[in-house]
Amino acid sequence: MTQDYKTKVLIIGSGPAGYTAAIYAARAGLNPMMVAGIEPGGQLMITTEVENYPGFAEIQGPQLMENMREQAEKVGTQIVSDMIVDVDFDNRPFTAKDDSGNTYTADTVIISTGAKARWLGLDSEYKFQGLGVSACATCDGFFFRDQHVAVIGGGNSAVEEALFLTNFCSKVTLVHRRDELRAEKVMQDRLFANEKVEVVWDSVVEEVVGVGHGEGDTPGMTGIRVKNVKTDEISEIECQGMFVAIGHDPATQLFKDKLDMDDEGYLIVEPGTPRTKIAGVFAAGDVADKIYRQAVTAAGMGCMAALDADKYLSVNGSH
Ligand code: NDP
Repeated sequence: MTQDYKTKVLIIGSGPAGYTAAIYAARAGLNPMMVAGIEPGGQLMITTEVENYPGFAEIQGPQLMENMREQAEKVGTQIVSDMIVDVDFDNRPFTAKDDSGNTYTADTVIISTGAKARWLGLDSEYKFQGLGVSACATCDGFFFRDQHVAVIGGGNSAVEEALFLTNFCSKVTLVHRRDELRAEKVMQDRLFANEKVEVVWDSVVEEVVGVGHGEGDTPGMTGIRVKNVKTDEISEIECQGMFVAIGHDPATQLFKDKLDMDDEGYLIVEPGTPRTKIAGVFAAGDVADKIYRQAVTAAGMGCMAALDADKYLSVNGSH
């Protein structure tokens, strides 16, 4: 049976931004509702050790998110495990609908839908998803014990995934399209010091090769064909897995033509605030931040969104 929920604060998405907004809104007596999405907890659910969240010298990403969820619930957030599929910001109060047909009527909305992994866009990459190609070392690394895998990308994610995979794999080849990494220096130092890691510079993946479903007895990828962008030389790296770690796209499809976005789809907020162009609708975390993209900055924006929602409700008489 579908339900019609009413709330002063509807939070869409459940990463660090959403949970922090929930904690602040609940403690302000606003009885927030959160619709958690299909991947509750967001990107930290697929990461391993987090060493840069203040107060936690070392904690696993999923554990940190579980702590946040418990804290949000403990102070009074109602969390619904569903996904918002439609929103109406033209009329007040705002309304939203979830995938199960439930409706939400809300005086304010905090959007914290985060961002998703980006793919290279090759047909063969798609063909071998689940047969060696993955965008999540934490989820799938275990399946590549004592095997050779490639990681694509040069940012912190790629380096972190490559280092994580050395715990399982016999060899990890990092393929990067330039001749220097974007990752932090300390991460690079760790990578270069690891004997299991080899870096292939100035190279892009042209094709994932192997045996597809229905093409042989043992489907699976057997390697990647890479091109050196400086020499145009093509070579093949024999490997059983390929982890794509080339960045993320914000989860903003739902807000197309409803809120302002930049060229890459990130929601545009008033600088230094979580306020969108619609008063009472706020955006927090990676969905509106392509520069910092950290759990702690997302949490900070979540806090700001809840404080602004509280202020908006006071001024507009619905506190
Ligand atoms: P980034 O945007 O930082 O890096 C993406 C990498 O992928 C870049 O090296 C980029 O190359 C490469 N790339 C992008 N598109 C392609 C393509 N089509 N083909 C080949 N290569 C491509 O993304 P990350 O996911 O690494 O990091 C996102 C944010 O999260 C960053 O701010 C990062 O610092 C943070 N982060 C922090 C962590 C931590 O502190 N422990 C862990 C993971 C992420 P190029 O360099 O040439 O542009």
